[in-house]
Amino acid sequence: MEYYWLLRSVLRAQPHLRTCLTRCRHCGIFFLTHPRNAGRHNLRCAFGCREAYRKQAAAQRTAAYYREPRGKKKKADLNQRRRNQEAARRGQTCGRKTPAGKPPSTQANSVIVEHVRMVVSLIEGRRVKRRAILQMAAKNRRQHTMVRRRKIDQAVLWLNEHPP
Ligand SMILES: [Zn+2]
Repeated sequence: MEYYWLLRSVLRAQPHLRTCLTRCRHCGIFFLTHPRNAGRHNLRCAFGCREAYRKQAAAQRTAAYYREPRGKKKKADLNQRRRNQEAARRGQTCGRKTPAGKPPSTQANSVIVEHVRMVVSLIEGRRVKRRAILQMAAKNRRQHTMVRRRKIDQAVLWLNEHPP
């Protein structure tokens, strides 16, 4: 796997980062964590597990809150307010669109970008900006597209010379 090859070569070049190597408690993938978390083995990776856990924990907190008497009252209030709003909306002739929130994929991406930013900062021994990571990713994508295109060109060329 390309990711592990990269991780291995980073650790070979910078052995001091070995203390930052940890394993996701959920999916088991190895990854570099921030030095402040070095030695911890209860972490989740930035490739989806952390985000999924965060959502799950938030849902559990919300559920627990609404089971409490204070939460039950709050929920009743919210339901009442929603009913009022719906009634008001029905009264209006033109409905206004609610602004769309960020899609979940954007959120997951930003977790990965932050992880890459942290790892690159560790490797380079300086604080790398988020924008630099995004530029790097864009450049990388362009190169990948070029390589892919070249492969397709070659395939077409080969087919032209060796018609089926
Ligand atoms: Zn994981």
